[in-house]
Amino acid sequence: MSKRDYYEILGVSKGASQDELKKAYRKVAMQFHPDRNPGDKAAEDKFKEAAEAYEVLSDADKRAQYDRFGHAGVQGNGRGGYGGGQGNMEDIFSQFGDIFGDDIFGSFFGGGGGGGRRGGQRMRGVRGSNLRIKIKLTYEEIAKGVTKQVKVKKHVPCSTCQGSGAKDKGSVQTCGTCGGSGQVRRVSNTFLGQMQTVTTCPQCNGEGTTITAKCGSCKGEGRVYGEETVTLDIPAGVGEGMQLSLGGRGNAGERGGPPGDLIVLIEEEQHKDLHRDGLNVAYELHITFPDACFGTSVEVPTIDGKARIKIPAGTQSGKIFRLKGKGFPGVNSYEKGDQLIYVNVWTPQNLSAEEKAQLEKMNSSPNFKPQPEKSDKSFFDKVREMFS
Ligand SMILES: [Zn+2]
Ligand SMILES: [Zn+2]
Repeated sequence: MSKRDYYEILGVSKGASQDELKKAYRKVAMQFHPDRNPGDKAAEDKFKEAAEAYEVLSDADKRAQYDRFGHAGVQGNGRGGYGGGQGNMEDIFSQFGDIFGDDIFGSFFGGGGGGGRRGGQRMRGVRGSNLRIKIKLTYEEIAKGVTKQVKVKKHVPCSTCQGSGAKDKGSVQTCGTCGGSGQVRRVSNTFLGQMQTVTTCPQCNGEGTTITAKCGSCKGEGRVYGEETVTLDIPAGVGEGMQLSLGGRGNAGERGGPPGDLIVLIEEEQHKDLHRDGLNVAYELHITFPDACFGTSVEVPTIDGKARIKIPAGTQSGKIFRLKGKGFPGVNSYEKGDQLIYVNVWTPQNLSAEEKAQLEKMNSSPNFKPQPEKSDKSFFDKVREMFS
């Protein structure tokens, strides 16, 4: 499909001035604007065609190229061309602000689909920073999960001005630089044509308003240093070094800005008897030599109160008993660890002369000679099996 002549599309003569081009483009663009021709593919193509024509002819260099070489002279130029139904409507709309001023299409078409204001929203204030706190938990608290009330020192919204930072309603004024939109547009000429950038208004930092008289309590910041009691719901199974994030419970923002997050770092309190190893809990049990010989029943601490275990007669030092399910729960699973009980048969270190004599007598008995179980497995294989 051969392209129509750009001048013809806009209905202007070859010698048309920039002003004439602009007026012509405006007329054609309004006639074929999609908002006025909903669902009309032919109109949309004409609309795109006009945008492409204007893009080339409004640029002195491209226009000169076009005048000399026709369509071939401007191929691959610009934003890839709007013709043939390939063009990006958003790109076209974004140009209207440059060409006609911000509100021509917006007001003409009721603000909806045209080149009116799009993009960033006006933001209030400055977001508060995240706040980090540490919390120390016992094994018992971790095992069951716990709810804690903690006092957190942080920035809180100023109650005098409700966070606005202004002395009163009258001291909040629409920003003169951006007219309250919070954004400023800058149009610059680049080799691709006119480029428009929208940036945050430097005068009001995007808030759209400025304050003429500051609140006395917070000196205009909209927040003061204070304290808040925060309820922390800590799930069962958390561990040392884990972080919980509470959205919006950090420092209050400035002048009504959104609050930061509260980040809670978990620390484990050392337990006097138990030692955590992942989901498992290790406990070292010392028993006497006679108890190991005769067998006994002992009470051991667990993270869930006390438990009684049976030590069978003839238990060797180094034996590991497993209390199934007495370990920590997984924080994100139904898994549960075990408690591992490491048996340590206590060797007496101070003996009387009489005890020494008795032991020496016993030592000569063949029953006291080590008789380890015959096993195919090596010692290390057995250890590995116990821990898997
Ligand atoms: Zn205040
Ligand atoms: Zn402003």
